Amino acid sequence: MSIIDFEKVKTCIQVPTAAEQLLSKPEKEISFSLNLVLRPHGIVLADAFVVYHNTARGPAKGGLRIAPHATLEHTRVLAELMSLKTALVQIPFGGGKSAIRLDPRQYTRMEMTALVKEYVHMLSGDLRSGAYVPAPDLGSTPSDMAVIYGETHIPESVTGKPPRVGGLPGRREATGYGVAHVARLACQAVLGRSLRGASVAVQGFGNVGGWAAQFLSDFGARVVAVSDKKGGVYRKEGLSVSELAAHQDRAGELPDFEGDRITNEELLALDVDVLIPAAIEDVIHEGNAHKVAARLVLEAANGPVTPEGDAVLESRGIPVIPDILANAGGVVASYVEWHQAKSGSMTKKEETYQTIAEQLEAAFERVQQMARSCKVSYRLAATAVAVEELVNTMRDRGWIPNED
Ligand code: NAD
Repeated sequence: MSIIDFEKVKTCIQVPTAAEQLLSKPEKEISFSLNLVLRPHGIVLADAFVVYHNTARGPAKGGLRIAPHATLEHTRVLAELMSLKTALVQIPFGGGKSAIRLDPRQYTRMEMTALVKEYVHMLSGDLRSGAYVPAPDLGSTPSDMAVIYGETHIPESVTGKPPRVGGLPGRREATGYGVAHVARLACQAVLGRSLRGASVAVQGFGNVGGWAAQFLSDFGARVVAVSDKKGGVYRKEGLSVSELAAHQDRAGELPDFEGDRITNEELLALDVDVLIPAAIEDVIHEGNAHKVAARLVLEAANGPVTPEGDAVLESRGIPVIPDILANAGGVVASYVEWHQAKSGSMTKKEETYQTIAEQLEAAFERVQQMARSCKVSYRLAATAVAVEELVNTMRDRGWIPNED
């Protein structure tokens, strides 16, 4: 089932029947099994999935998730999000995703290398032809992407590689940079104030949340709380994000000394200007959305607010900047890396940031116009802008008739 609510989208734009049919289900799905004998584990059998949701705009682009709870159904949802995201920020990629059902923490680096090589072996045609282009996602790392490149020998077959292996300077921090940049735009446009001095709480201090907190702090925001899986730290006057990050690098967890310990649920209920869930999906739901006291919610993770939680926030007048806009900086950087790999050129970190800022600003403007003209939420407006772009692309390619 599609995550696009076509009935609502059609209150903003026209969606031809053929386009709705094409977008309602994935173009292609592959299920396979990774089968490897690894000492001391014995036989390792891991289910794996690849979903191409829509490739009208270009190759199916989307991360490789390695997680014990990975399913084909969830991979479909994530692939569809990628179709919407790439269309919204107008880059020439389609939407895809892949997953391996496995807990990467159970395996050594060398064992993961063997498993990823097996993944490439099973998907050789898709990866070598450039039809599906993976990147890191939960549970996979830049080193895994280097392994994929090592097997295909094609630099543009994968993005999110380490800079020493053809990766892009700035790719690691790109999603967090984009989140902070969108926070800056949203503060001005939605709250009518500058991000400078605004209080922000960030759930999740991993790649996205950690870098988002760092850039928010660099842009002058007061980051009052951050958290990881075990809980968070809170300091009303603002935390030193760089010290938190340095401690986390050394000790593998957030320190106790920087502020008061709080739970993740308490973080989500803080009275702040901007709340940024940047960890996992479904953390704001029907059961806790009424406790959210922030003036603005920005989805840095994929799907952190459930549809029921979203309805509660909307009824309470709390605007939500959706994931397909807020965390799109990562896929824009992936495009820059893919382009660099194809052309053999070199890109500076500042150029990557500049491209992210330009694409996100233009997308934010389109979403704001749609939200205003249609009088709908930012989420519905962003979906409508993305669907309209996909409809036009499918028309250009002759996938749907012009007159429909
Ligand atoms: P990560 O593994 O680097 O970080 C996840 C963080 O969330 C960690 O701090 C972890 O401790 C915390 N966490 C895990 N479970 C939690 C829980 N139950 N409650 C609170 N915190 C919890 O992952 P990431 O790459 O930062 O990705 C985070 C989210 O952003 C995911 O939804 C991912 O799909 C999405 N995303 C990532 C990128 C990217 O470029 N990495 C791009 C777009 C979207």
